Amino acid sequence: MSDERADLPHDARSVDDIVLRGADAIDALRALLARGPAAVLTGAGCSTESGIPDYRGEGTRRRARNPVQHRAVLHEAEARQRYWARSTVGWPRFAAAVPNPAHHALAALEAQGCLTGIITQNVDGLHRAAGSRQVVELHGALANVRCLACGTRETRRALQVRLEQDNPGFLTRDDVMLADGDAELPEAATAGFRVPACLSCRGTLKPDVVFFGDSVPRDVVDAARGLLERAASLMVVGSSLAVYSGLRFVRWAHARGCPVAIVNLGPTRGDPLATLLVDGRAGVLLPALCLAVHGRPDEHGRPDEHGRPAVPLSRR
Ligand code: NAD
Repeated sequence: MSDERADLPHDARSVDDIVLRGADAIDALRALLARGPAAVLTGAGCSTESGIPDYRGEGTRRRARNPVQHRAVLHEAEARQRYWARSTVGWPRFAAAVPNPAHHALAALEAQGCLTGIITQNVDGLHRAAGSRQVVELHGALANVRCLACGTRETRRALQVRLEQDNPGFLTRDDVMLADGDAELPEAATAGFRVPACLSCRGTLKPDVVFFGDSVPRDVVDAARGLLERAASLMVVGSSLAVYSGLRFVRWAHARGCPVAIVNLGPTRGDPLATLLVDGRAGVLLPALCLAVHGRPDEHGRPDEHGRPAVPLSRR
């Protein structure tokens, strides 16, 4: 099985790159959307303003990481014990996250016909929570758990109750939440952790996500590609593109002459293939883009001439 989630080398933005910020960036993005609906590819950076850390952003890049590996979870009891112990601590804060202005702006842009849909590498479900309809979750969703033996599904929320009951006192730990609903735990803390089993057959449970070292299912890639094929451009938001499963869409778009805009804090692996590089926070830039695209008041609650939304984006 190919390792689609393995890290690729990561270069800095070159001095020749033209990186736009502020009003210039909004104008350029608006011009891109004027060509026709865009497909959007989002990554962990789209959710940092919801309080979920990314992997390779400023401040997280240098932190020691030890992401769970697909093969280990399948074949090693200790790896499963480590995963569920860390997830038990990380889940409550992850599950409590709510969409931020970037998610709401993308949902509003889709409702206004400016997007074919969203291809997301995130597993937090925040695009759907914000009201986006065409969402392809490349790496699945942490909210669902599946038995590897019999396929029975359970919600992660229900499983958390069992995890806490079986491991009393575990949640009182004061640990740091990491990306992916994970948490930093000392090795010794996970040793006595009781791992949950399937309620139907006592089989091995796995969250319905693509771990590092696994591949994105073919039908999911095809659905994502469908959004891209119907689009006039690709807009990447908050992803280092260090992972091939996301980078491939930038390569596809570039290969078929489809312009690529990258909205990100800092350089990405896709920068050499981009038509437009925008440096800034998604939660600031995307609402501004949304207002710029529909800068007239109308009966659908679009913004007035001062850029004030007649209806808050979150209620659309
Ligand atoms: P990444 O951590 O590699 O890159 C995130 C990028 O976003 C960084 O370059 C960072 O500087 C930028 N960024 C951070 N905050 C931003 C903001 N407010 N506005 C604009 N840019 C911002 O993330 P990735 O490329 O998505 O790869 C990480 C992998 O880990 C993904 O495959 C994903 O499945 C998983 N992951 C998911 C979540 C989640 O579900 N929320 C969180 C962390 C990691």
